Amino acid sequence: MEKLLEGITWLGHDSFRITSAEGVVYIDPRNLHRTEPADVILITHEHHDHFSPTDVEKLRKPGTAIVTIKQVAAQLKGDVRVVKPGDTLSVGGIIVEAVLAYNPSKQFHPRPAGNVGFIVTAGGRRIYHAGDTDLIPEMSDIKADVALLPVGGKYTMDAGEAARAADLIQPGVAVPMHWGDLIGTRDDAESFRKLSKVPVVILENQN
Ligand code: ZN
Ligand code: ZN
Repeated sequence: MEKLLEGITWLGHDSFRITSAEGVVYIDPRNLHRTEPADVILITHEHHDHFSPTDVEKLRKPGTAIVTIKQVAAQLKGDVRVVKPGDTLSVGGIIVEAVLAYNPSKQFHPRPAGNVGFIVTAGGRRIYHAGDTDLIPEMSDIKADVALLPVGGKYTMDAGEAARAADLIQPGVAVPMHWGDLIGTRDDAESFRKLSKVPVVILENQN
């Protein structure tokens, strides 16, 4: 379990850094206090708690590739690769798959918006970052060693739904996200850990 999480750092809310031999990947960087130059930046959708143009600029170096959906890409310059759910691409040895992320019956993230989650293959593992999503049937097609799942409720899955999602996906380990400051509390993260049949590790915020 520890091995699966090697190089994966939680930076609060939905922000993660994944460091592996293939390079440095940031997902949904936001309000970062310290930054390392990124090889790849992944942005799931345009909500301000996921897409921070300031943070993107802080992480950028010559050659940084940004992978995101078209609404976000329209607000960025440079090497920006547009994806939609179902797309796969490779950036310098890091494989990125975009997958569906939506609310079936709430207005926050309608399916037609084309928001995504990502499966990143780096360091010999498949790491699924669900983005802002509810429990959706397509999750049974996700194959991942590590699942980063929202637990805050309201805009996304809550702890109970995240536990069911983990059960569908069957990763080696799951990590709660979308909690800590804007929405969701440590109690949500803890109840996810208690409810899940899959091992859950609650990462500390390293931002
Ligand atoms: Zn959102
Ligand atoms: Zn969000």
